[in-house]
Amino acid sequence: MASFDAIVIGTGPAGVMAARALRGKRVLILDVGRQPNPLPDPEPGGDLYEQRRTQPDLFDFLIGQNFESLHNIHSEPVSLKLKSPLMRYIIDDARALAPVRSQNFDATMSFAAGGLANAWGAGVYRFTTRDLDGFPVRIQELEPFYDELTEHMGVSGANDDLTPSFGNDPALQPPIRLSRFASDLHTGYRQKHEVFAKLGVSIGCTRLAVLTEPYRGRPAYNYGNFEFFRPHDRSVYNPAYTLRELIDAGQVSYEPHHLVLRFAESDQGVTVTTRNLLSDTHEVFEGRTLILAAGALNSAKLVLESNDDHNTRLPLLDNPMTCLPLFRPNRIGQALDTQDSSLGQLILIHDYQGTVLQGSVYGTAGPLRSDILFELPLSITANLAWMRRTAAATGLLMMFYPADPHPDNYLQLASDGALQLNYSKPVTTGPERGAAERALIPAFRKIGFYTAAALCQYPPMGASIHYAGTLPMRDKPGRYELYPDGRLHGSRNVHVVDGACFPRLPAKNLTLTIMANAMRIASRIRDMVL
Ligand SMILES: Cc1cc2nc3c(=O)[nH]c(=O)nc-3n(C[C@H](O)[C@H](O)[C@H](O)COP(=O)(O)OP(=O)(O)OC[C@H]3O[C@@H](n4cnc5c(N)ncnc54)[C@H](O)[C@@H]3O)c2cc1C
Repeated sequence: MASFDAIVIGTGPAGVMAARALRGKRVLILDVGRQPNPLPDPEPGGDLYEQRRTQPDLFDFLIGQNFESLHNIHSEPVSLKLKSPLMRYIIDDARALAPVRSQNFDATMSFAAGGLANAWGAGVYRFTTRDLDGFPVRIQELEPFYDELTEHMGVSGANDDLTPSFGNDPALQPPIRLSRFASDLHTGYRQKHEVFAKLGVSIGCTRLAVLTEPYRGRPAYNYGNFEFFRPHDRSVYNPAYTLRELIDAGQVSYEPHHLVLRFAESDQGVTVTTRNLLSDTHEVFEGRTLILAAGALNSAKLVLESNDDHNTRLPLLDNPMTCLPLFRPNRIGQALDTQDSSLGQLILIHDYQGTVLQGSVYGTAGPLRSDILFELPLSITANLAWMRRTAAATGLLMMFYPADPHPDNYLQLASDGALQLNYSKPVTTGPERGAAERALIPAFRKIGFYTAAALCQYPPMGASIHYAGTLPMRDKPGRYELYPDGRLHGSRNVHVVDGACFPRLPAKNLTLTIMANAMRIASRIRDMVL
């Protein structure tokens, strides 16, 4: 019966890398596959400042006919990268296609070709043996795929003080050029290395799937600072590029505009039922094996839906976050760099009382002033004046905390098909949020960066968009868990390859490991199953 060897659901980092690893097999990819609208003509080039100087009116591009970029002023906030007119396609329709109910978890979902990685910061950090504690997978099983990913995407960064945390990667391109704020911080850290070492803190370059040199037909990053406004910057890796390569090479069949509703297994393989969003009809596809890569939330939803299960609570993981502003007084009054970036500038690893935390340092070049205007305590006029004078002197340290499963943090399928999400215990392991940040403040002060514990913010759960753990891999899995090869317990031909697989979350960006693990599982399916 099976017309395809494998059906892959989703074209985010997990789905595309699984499909790529299935080379030589007949692969069908099903996806909703939203695409960005065309760029304005002429295309915005150079950098944001050049645009302001040369274009008579940037309103449609930066704000939007329907005031899209001002969304967070009047509506439920979304990530700042997901609201401008040309970036909205990433989350368009998500609430309609996958309704969510929650009091305490801000879920972000994407039905775009390329998934959430259309908006990602492209931070790619290898897991270490310590990070894989609790996983039924050894680092040696992931390493060849990490190397292959560096080779395929191009990764910039450095083997520096952070190599013990991220592993040695001999194929890195040079790191991105730092803003003056971040460069001062890095220099200060190196000069007072012993102060930070005593605290268990190391600071180094970000590792980004962003090219600093031309590679495989893609250009180097040009510091245009358009990340919040212009989709598909070719220097920033997007799984949609690999998808295009796979389609053009005839390696996969791609069916966009399909919302997968459920799957069923038979002796011959799997059947997948979809709603064709163009014709609004149901369609059925058949294959020998099914690979779920719809993101940790939607893969879990499909498994529950296919079992007609509205009772079971599945575990849910997301990295709790903090956000600490940093001020550099001697930069007050200076202009922002015209050629800049909203990408992560530096990484900080903090071994605090035996728990490893990871932070990223960002500048303020990316967001619109209106994104921050109402966060400040003065009048609107005074806030604007404050921002103008202090933007170049301000940065943000965003810290991730690890996450372990907890009975108060779960996902369930409501009887009407909505996903019900609860996350009432943010920190499940290690120190509560705030103490590690307080410990850092005196060290920052010694290198001329000031902040206060009272300024530390605690974004709501869901904000790190590191969703995982809903169908965890185990050596001996039970119901709704996976074997180490990604196969769903109780099934013969259903595999899961996205963040749902992770039994826990270290404090680290997870997507590189989602991709490496998806390749590991799909390679095994290619060699052993098909
Ligand atoms: C602003 C932002 C910044 C980020 N920065 C980083 C970073 O720097 N580093 C990092 O590691 N991670 C980062 N992330 C997280 C990263 O994007 C996700 O971890 C990653 O995209 C997850 O990949 P995935 O393939 O599992 O799922 P997704 O990217 O969510 O892709 C899911 C895919 O499945 C499809 N799909 C879902 N349900 C269905 C269905 N029912 N039928 C058909 N198709 C379906 C969707 O169309 C989509 O193609 C960031 C995310 C955001 C939003």
